[in-house]
Amino acid sequence: MTITNRKDTRPVRVGDLVIGGSNKVVVQSMTTTKTHDVEATVKEIHRLEEAGCQIVRVACPDERAADAIADIKRQINIPLVVDIHFDYKMALKAIEGGADKIRINPGNIGKRRKVEAVVNAAKEKGIPIRIGVNAGSLERHLLEKYGYPTADAMVESALHHIQILEELDFHDIIVSLKASDVNLAIEAYEKAAEHISYPLHLGITEAGTQFAGTVKSAAGLGAILSKGIGSTLRISLSADPVEEVKVGRELLKTFGLADNAATLISCPTCGRIEIDLISIANEVEEYIQNIKAPIKVAVLGCAVNGPGEAREADIGIAGARGEGLLFRHGEIIRKVPEETMVEELKKEVDKIAEEYLAQ
Ligand code: SF4
Repeated sequence: MTITNRKDTRPVRVGDLVIGGSNKVVVQSMTTTKTHDVEATVKEIHRLEEAGCQIVRVACPDERAADAIADIKRQINIPLVVDIHFDYKMALKAIEGGADKIRINPGNIGKRRKVEAVVNAAKEKGIPIRIGVNAGSLERHLLEKYGYPTADAMVESALHHIQILEELDFHDIIVSLKASDVNLAIEAYEKAAEHISYPLHLGITEAGTQFAGTVKSAAGLGAILSKGIGSTLRISLSADPVEEVKVGRELLKTFGLADNAATLISCPTCGRIEIDLISIANEVEEYIQNIKAPIKVAVLGCAVNGPGEAREADIGIAGARGEGLLFRHGEIIRKVPEETMVEELKKEVDKIAEEYLAQ
């Protein structure tokens, strides 16, 4: 079964990308450097770009950060989102500096004239605004009404911020409803998908460390994506943000939602193993990170059931007493010596990827 993302959301342009509509789900991440440190921030963004990050967000906690936006923007190749807490002056500076999108909740900006100033500036530059609802920081009146952060309270908060923008005839909106509690996040996004036609930015906030946060994010966002909900996502990990991008891309591949990345199939190993499968699988996984075609590559410990079981693989290798059997779509095509089998496999992977991209 191929899961497709919801097609009925409004397409919203962010730099040279379009989020929502019939477009692919986009992977984003956030920098961990001090934004005013332009050199370190740009360096981190380049690492993220290389890992496949499609949109990057930077925090803008003060004037120094806002002043750095133009400089950062000049040196990167992917759309830049600037995260503003509530200070409308920072938002105006970030927009002036070339931000491709800002994240700010209009209901937190304050006086109407300030909200209008931000909305007008965004309109003028043709950039969208992301409304970021967070279960941990809901408005007091909603907490009083619902007693605690519920999915309904989160959706009501989002609708309130949306209304402010719509009243100013602003519609380039993206909405997130993040919670650290996976069940709450799933329910909030499901309800939001019923009531909100703007693209949804998915995330499980404060998900945790690389290991636990990956599992938690995959469980939560997997459940949401499997229902066709979500136009962009960020995995939040207490780790190098490059890891967030890797996890995000892997998650999309799992659901057949990425057409620009290769997938590895590897056997769990058992007593029949004939090659050093674990290190080979890791080496091949590393190698295919840079492949931009949706091909499937298999590595199997033995040839007993392997090639047949990995029939869907475009190319694969199975261990067979001192040799490797190279196979395509379950059929063995040739034998290769164990010492060179990984290199042979890489060459075949490149060839298939080239063929795919030339189509
Ligand atoms: Fe075991 Fe071979 Fe299956 Fe791997 S492919 S799990 S080694 S039987």
